[in-house]
Amino acid sequence: MTPSSPLEAWGLLPDEWKPLCTELGIPPYRATQILTGLYQNFAQSWQEITTLPKELRDILAAHILLQPLEVVTTQASEDHVTKLLLGCTDGERIETVLIPSKGRMTQCISTQVGCNFKCAFCASGQYGRVRNLTAGEIVGQVMAACALMRNAQQPSEQDTANQPGKKFELPRPGNIVVMGMGEPFDNYDNMIKALKILNHQKGINIGARHLTISTCGVIPGIQRLSDEGLQFELSVSLHAPTDELRNKLLPVNKRWPIAELIATCKQYFEKTNRLITFEYTLIKKLNDQPEHAAQLIQLLRQLPCKINLIPLSPVEGFDGERPDDRTSLSFLDTLIKAGFNTTLRKSRGKEVDAACGQLRLRTIKGE
Ligand code: SAH
Repeated sequence: MTPSSPLEAWGLLPDEWKPLCTELGIPPYRATQILTGLYQNFAQSWQEITTLPKELRDILAAHILLQPLEVVTTQASEDHVTKLLLGCTDGERIETVLIPSKGRMTQCISTQVGCNFKCAFCASGQYGRVRNLTAGEIVGQVMAACALMRNAQQPSEQDTANQPGKKFELPRPGNIVVMGMGEPFDNYDNMIKALKILNHQKGINIGARHLTISTCGVIPGIQRLSDEGLQFELSVSLHAPTDELRNKLLPVNKRWPIAELIATCKQYFEKTNRLITFEYTLIKKLNDQPEHAAQLIQLLRQLPCKINLIPLSPVEGFDGERPDDRTSLSFLDTLIKAGFNTTLRKSRGKEVDAACGQLRLRTIKGE
């Protein structure tokens, strides 16, 4: 956030509220009511928090922005993946995806408008980075999802009459993955602050192990995270087992090549005792052949980790293709037989362009 921009309600840590209230001449005990209003009742404006006297609501409204991101479009696929295109106050657009699975909602959130890392098959990087998102805008994406989920699960009067004692679960995603637009470690402070707010018991209260940061391999970010003593999950987008291939797919590899990246991941594991998940997007013929699996096994053999295979979601501007299911399954099988904890991500939400940045790209191009 630039110094001149207003404070954002969703960008403040729960512990910041008491001192802020004092500064504004509001009795500090009101902080609890504010937090309940924001994160239990999902207030969308100060005037909705009616536990606060009108004059206090007015003071808050004058100093702290509480305004939902504008929902520009909502697209749902046949398999109920929902993609939201959201508008920021300066007119920039960001996207977030909701993926229901096994009774839980996973939300994929963005940290930047655009991205500077220009991975070959990622739509977010095609126009470079426009700006970082504030912590309030990152949390705001989850608040938008909560509002949507609340509207979808609003218990009918009949439900409430039939089950008077039943508590309806607060509408919130069970998992957050920082895998939308942007490179999280290129906006480290705002991203970590947002995750702390999402994680905080008086915030959205999502368990740290259900919050996953994904990086294209920004080594200083991995090192910084390993010193924080936080329990968030870390994914590293590897996508290729050799520098020759990774240089072509992820330009970041020229700055931080594979050997350094893997050494940093080892240090991360030694320091935190937490397993890193390596993301590996499978691209037909390019990195999905048995020789690639063998190289990957060799590369990761001394590092306790998990591997997540993602069949490519085709994007305009990159002529790679998604491998057929048999090739993906055989790659998976080879890694499992070599003893790696490996999953193959079912691709979902194809009709809604659920790969990062695709929806924003379409709207920029005016399709
Ligand atoms: N910048 C971070 C987070 C955003 S991308 C990172 O690179 O990890 C989240 C994941 O989606 C990354 O693993 C990325 O490489 C992958 N991805 C991007 N575009 C994709 C596509 N078209 N098909 C499959 N995976 C893609």
